[in-house]
Amino acid sequence: MRTKIVVGNWKMNNTIAESLELATGIAEAVGKGIHCCEVGIAPSFPALHEVGKVIEWSDISLAAQNCHYENDGAFTGEVSARMLAALGCSFVILGHSERRQLFGETSAIVNRKVKKALEEGLRVILCVGETLHEREIGVTESVITGQVVEGLDGVSDISNLVIAYEPVWAIGTGMTATSAQAEEVHASIRATVAGIYSPAVADHLRIQYGGSVKPSNAVELFSMPNIDGGLIGGASLNVGDFMAIVKAAC
Ligand code: PEP
Repeated sequence: MRTKIVVGNWKMNNTIAESLELATGIAEAVGKGIHCCEVGIAPSFPALHEVGKVIEWSDISLAAQNCHYENDGAFTGEVSARMLAALGCSFVILGHSERRQLFGETSAIVNRKVKKALEEGLRVILCVGETLHEREIGVTESVITGQVVEGLDGVSDISNLVIAYEPVWAIGTGMTATSAQAEEVHASIRATVAGIYSPAVADHLRIQYGGSVKPSNAVELFSMPNIDGGLIGGASLNVGDFMAIVKAAC
């Protein structure tokens, strides 16, 4: 039985003060002793430390939105997995389509980040997803399989890893994959992981769906057998909407 996991990706939104207000509201709503679903929030880098302090008492995990694949060095503007772990982060989101598309992250780079983050004790949310063009020309499965295989290359243990299937065309667009479309890809990801590792490992792996998840579509998406929660962008910036999605996972 896999515990569902819902993580809010705040992206480049909110000052530290705004982040604290949002985090406090979510912490009060989630509280302590929530067992039906794991909950995480991923504020921007400047807010991580302060947000970590206000959610410390609650069952919410702190997540970062990215990290570098080296621990230290001449990488101006970058933040390492080691720094995030020392700050109290439990998770890091890697390979988000915005990173791949806007910042040129290839699967090879994502793979280096995955390995480094796991090595530093962080849990990883590895994002994969196809563009609208790729879906339209019928290559969704091969694109996703490629991203999973390359992202996990050389990773021997995925017990601290979650995969997030996020169709690029559904992110921030209001267009959601139907539950059947999402389930098809999730099942295919699980089969790919079973092939690389084993059916037992694949069975334990949590696969989140992300892409315009809202309170109105969360119940249906999360009721699919291979959808183990969500990575939530826009709707995670509002306590009521985010909590409605957490409740849907429960
Ligand atoms: C995301 O950025 O991970 C995401 C899923 O965004 P949204 O929910 O806004 O589509």
